[in-house]
Amino acid sequence: MAKGRVEVREEFCKSCGLCVAACPKKVLRISDSINPRGYRPAEQFQDGCIACGICARTCPDVVLTVYRIDE
Ligand code: SF4
Ligand code: SF4
Repeated sequence: MAKGRVEVREEFCKSCGLCVAACPKKVLRISDSINPRGYRPAEQFQDGCIACGICARTCPDVVLTVYRIDE
């Protein structure tokens, strides 16, 4: 199965949590940090991303970029 990694453009995240709920592998969460707009951005907090891209398609603000990791 493919492995992936998610990059979060933290400054654009509105902390809506849609990506966290949508991830089938549950590797995303809302972080404890606060971005310049006062929101807690999403973060990938554990391995297990399969690069499915669902999170990126779910985000209304195009905050997430999914990278596939080649083994
Ligand atoms: S690409 Fe898929 S598995 Fe990876 S964080 Fe996004 S929704 Fe989860
Ligand atoms: S869906 Fe987008 S705006 Fe909402 S928490 Fe995830 S990255 Fe942030």
